[in-house]
Amino acid sequence: MNNRRSIFVILVFALAVAAIFVARVLPRPDTSPTATTVPSVTAPAPTAAPTPTPTPGPFSGENAMRHVVTQMEMGPRVVGTEAHARVVEWIRGEAEAQGWQVEIQETTWQNQPVRNVIAKLGSGTPWVIIGAHFDSRMVADKDLDPEKQTQPVPGANDGASGVAVLLELARVLPRDLDKQVWLVFFDSEDNGRLPGWDWILGSRAFVDALEGTPDSVVIVDMIGDADLNIYKERNSDPELTDEIWQIAAEAGYGEQFIPELKHSMLDDHTPFLEKGIRAIDIIDFDYPYWHTSEDTADKVSAHSLEAVGETLRLWLLKEE
Ligand SMILES: [Zn+2]
Repeated sequence: MNNRRSIFVILVFALAVAAIFVARVLPRPDTSPTATTVPSVTAPAPTAAPTPTPTPGPFSGENAMRHVVTQMEMGPRVVGTEAHARVVEWIRGEAEAQGWQVEIQETTWQNQPVRNVIAKLGSGTPWVIIGAHFDSRMVADKDLDPEKQTQPVPGANDGASGVAVLLELARVLPRDLDKQVWLVFFDSEDNGRLPGWDWILGSRAFVDALEGTPDSVVIVDMIGDADLNIYKERNSDPELTDEIWQIAAEAGYGEQFIPELKHSMLDDHTPFLEKGIRAIDIIDFDYPYWHTSEDTADKVSAHSLEAVGETLRLWLLKEE
């Protein structure tokens, strides 16, 4: 046997083993053009991205309408009932699912229990609070039928509509908004003139405990009426009122936001105004089903919810 030849054979064999080892065992960068252009079957579709897009707007009236129906299905959200406890947890869950930080303020005011839900986004200034009450009035004392006057108000417009607009805003507001926004869902607004109760217990307790001064407060109440006519409210800050009515007109909601003063309200904006805070009440107080058993989801429209919600979204995007 030729010694040189056997060395050559061994060398070739060793090189072959080394080549197989490199090819099969060592990881190598994938430079194949097909591998980088053909998507893997396990790759998630772009629409399935779990993080919200920076600008998820505009406001959907249909989504807000679904929030009204969900609250109706719980039953009247009267203080102390199971439906009341359920709506608090539902609001918390919905806001947290959209990435908001949620706190529940548990306290008492005038010897009544109060549970306000506060959802926060961003920090610093300007600091804006958007509020709505979530409770339903204990009794439909404006009902024409005496038997129904002792039943609770279903509260589709008076309660559920405001909550629905706030929750849809929670979805559509950009997460990188250059301001601090609190969505405050007030408890116990609607039991005034009943023995042992008064109006606006939740917002009174909230403002009493509030540290610092928000730059603007906007309350929405009864803004879902299918026949929506929102007049400027007399106690509201006139400058902020004009600003929002102007944005509504520019957005094509001039029919819903009527540029005339009409009612004078005691509502969740009142405690803020009494503390010298710039606040307004957006309310359509010409609602024939107010505090009756007829305040049901069929009286509310997606378009009305959208008129108010989209106006507020545009205002929040614009406000410096
Ligand atoms: Zn009411």
